[in-house]
Amino acid sequence: MKRTDKFVAVLLLAILLLMVGCTNETLNNNQKQMDTAKTEQTKQTGTSSEKTEQNEKDQTKPDNVSNQPEQPKYFVNTNYFIKPLDEIQTNKVVLLTFDDAPQGKHTKMILDTLDKHQAKAIFFINGHYAVKNKELLREIYDRGHIIGNHTWWHENLKQIDEEKTKKEIVEVNDLVEEVTGVRPTYFRPPFGVMSPASVKIILDEKMQRMNWTLGSLDWEYFKPEQKDKVIAQVVDNITSGANILMHDKEVTALALDEMLIKLKELGYSFVLPTEVILGE
Ligand SMILES: [Zn+2]
Repeated sequence: MKRTDKFVAVLLLAILLLMVGCTNETLNNNQKQMDTAKTEQTKQTGTSSEKTEQNEKDQTKPDNVSNQPEQPKYFVNTNYFIKPLDEIQTNKVVLLTFDDAPQGKHTKMILDTLDKHQAKAIFFINGHYAVKNKELLREIYDRGHIIGNHTWWHENLKQIDEEKTKKEIVEVNDLVEEVTGVRPTYFRPPFGVMSPASVKIILDEKMQRMNWTLGSLDWEYFKPEQKDKVIAQVVDNITSGANILMHDKEVTALALDEMLIKLKELGYSFVLPTEVILGE
């Protein structure tokens, strides 16, 4: 009996050691998987601040880290089309932009429709509207949209001197930073017209110029009853990567819901640029 007891004790000890070994092995494998996932994330995101952010996410959600899909990244090319950084990606996407904002009369309706479709947009603002609607400017930003610079008074930049041009551009960035804490990185010149002075100033301000590729013609079809023409102009002429110019105005607010429904039916989704391309 004594020898059997000893044998059982040794057997139990052996099983116990084996189990501890297995647990360690599993832990090591998990750690290896997490480390591999982190290395992959670091390769894809690039900068060290993003790496730190990712590591913080790892600590809060360790179980999901290897299952998190990388968010697609987009940029606006020199012809103003929105393109994926990853050339393999073939999703049909468009960029929605609203100029001459925030006027306040129809802005909330536009924001609510965008929310309904989980769509984000760039609002190119004029300083003279924004300074009277600072809370609304903050709300646009808080609801996840990008604030772009469309100058203070909407002057034709070819018709004003360098000093005035600087005020037109820089004072808008100062105002947006005061209200949101972030300086705009996208610039859309009024009428799509740049001047040599404005080219230099937007580079100094580290902004990318962005005209558009598809006009909604909401400035021609500006009456509320012409909303179907605005919808048709966009839907009939849409192509993937289109950068759609609209305005913060009534006819556009009325047209937007149906326009977005139709674009979704055609397979398009609404994305924002994530990368700023300077010097082009
Ligand atoms: Zn404009």
